[in-house]
Amino acid sequence: MNIVLFGPPGAGKGTQAVKLAEKFNYIHLSTGDIFRKNIKENTALGKKASAYMAKGELVPDELTIKMLEDAANENPDANGIIFDGFPRTIAQAKALDSFLKDQKGQKVDKMLSLEVEDEELIKRLLERGITSGRPDDADEGIIRNRINEYNKKTAPLKNYYEDQGKCVEIVGVGGIDEIFNRLASEFA
Ligand code: ADP
Repeated sequence: MNIVLFGPPGAGKGTQAVKLAEKFNYIHLSTGDIFRKNIKENTALGKKASAYMAKGELVPDELTIKMLEDAANENPDANGIIFDGFPRTIAQAKALDSFLKDQKGQKVDKMLSLEVEDEELIKRLLERGITSGRPDDADEGIIRNRINEYNKKTAPLKNYYEDQGKCVEIVGVGGIDEIFNRLASEFA
């Protein structure tokens, strides 16, 4: 199965994706993690992405889609893939559909949407910023910009998956294990 883990910045996608991938032997693909690795290693992609990320803006689709496809092709034999932080635009969702269909004869099976209120997100991200070392978590203005980008460009994707009957809403507030159990029940 190919699962899109969906939700705003700070919803807990990364935390839950790591646990789910381990439990179900899936590949976890986080576009944010891959961008940060490229920035750390000072690659050409990292140099292009860093200016956008520092401002809390989305990295352009063209760069993001190419990178995602390369990463997915590195792991052809997984039980499935959990997509974390991708797609974030309609163009990315369409590119993902074509990629899965043309290269693997597969599809997105489910989109699990973690639901958390904006004020709770800001609180969580500022808290994470104290220890994460992520510059985009350390500044409330950048955090608000990420949430704005989400509301403007990413939230409309919910309709895209709802129309295909693939969207499942999951309450993203509560203990980590509690939320994990809600998500895990969708992998059966
Ligand atoms: P969060 O979900 O907390 O914002 P991520 O690590 O998923 O954290 O993303 C960090 C940043 O990386 C985003 O603010 C954006 O600049 C960039 N990014 C990640 N995924 C994508 C994507 N699919 N499309 C465009 N930009 C992305």
